[in-house]
Amino acid sequence: MGGFSYKDVYVEDGKRVLEVNILPEKYCNFDCIFCPIGRSENKVDTQKAFDEYESSLIELAKMIENTKAELIFINSKGEAFVNDKIGEIIDFIKGKGLHVRLLSNGYLLGRDEYIKIANKCDEVVGEIKVITEEDFRKVQRPIEGYTLEEYISNMVSFNKQYKGKFIFEITIIKGYNDDEESIQKIKNIIKEISPNKIIITRMEDERFKKKLGITDERFEEISNVLLNIS
Ligand code: SF4
Repeated sequence: MGGFSYKDVYVEDGKRVLEVNILPEKYCNFDCIFCPIGRSENKVDTQKAFDEYESSLIELAKMIENTKAELIFINSKGEAFVNDKIGEIIDFIKGKGLHVRLLSNGYLLGRDEYIKIANKCDEVVGEIKVITEEDFRKVQRPIEGYTLEEYISNMVSFNKQYKGKFIFEITIIKGYNDDEESIQKIKNIIKEISPNKIIITRMEDERFKKKLGITDERFEEISNVLLNIS
């Protein structure tokens, strides 16, 4: 089974946003312990063909028309780059005069073939969730050989050449990156990446909130620091 799936349209900054998932099931190069989608049975970082591409595009055109969407957010079950038609899908949406936002965990933004694809988008979202190599391996369980250092440098080099809006999403996780030393490290990473927009978030999923969630007070404190870097 192939096919795309959708979330209900919502309005953000006056624009109607349609979120589309272009993967039939989870495909990711990470296997985070707190992934809202579940385990990564298919840990991959190379592209693959999925069924029902033609009919999915027809359906996407209908969805765009019916919802009057203005911004299409490619927010997939895992890493959207893995769909070998992602470039064509972005071209199809851009051909309709619409804006495209692409969510990636950011690791693959260091590879030429994916840089080309991401450069077609008006907005790209990259993420960070932990701050040490050990936690990266233990908690995000990426494909063997991946390092946090490379993860960050991939986003840094990508954004140096990117002309669109780079959005950097930082998830604060209790016990992993909510202490002062980690916040300082995150500040330095933000400076290096130099994103156009920063989003600070925390564990909201009920399954992980108790163990990994931070208090409202601490969240506000950290947000204030990270959103006001001079
Ligand atoms: S990077 Fe995102 S989609 Fe991939 S395993 Fe981690 S939380 Fe899940």
